[in-house]
Amino acid sequence: MTDADHGTRRTYAAGCRCTDCAAAEAGYRATLRRLARSGRPPLGALVRAGDAARIVRALLLERFTRRRVADEAGLERHTVHLTPSSRVRLSTVLRLRRTARRLLGEL
Ligand SMILES: [Zn+2]
Repeated sequence: MTDADHGTRRTYAAGCRCTDCAAAEAGYRATLRRLARSGRPPLGALVRAGDAARIVRALLLERFTRRRVADEAGLERHTVHLTPSSRVRLSTVLRLRRTARRLLGEL
């Protein structure tokens, strides 16, 4: 590994315990603890798909296709086939919200 290959969680997970890699891991864990304390879940957390489904529905009503919504949001096409009882990553909800705001100028 060169210097440029250190200082990430990936390199820490690969077993490197140098200062830079340990700091990257520690920083990540500190962020997780802070998010947990503040009650805000991490982006990878699974959440109910209700919000995401509502956003997709709003875009469909505006005549956007599911394919277009997925492409605009940078999501896999199957991701935009949601029922309110399914679960999605929080990052997916935020991504859809950003996309809807951009496409509709609101929400
Ligand atoms: Zn390292």
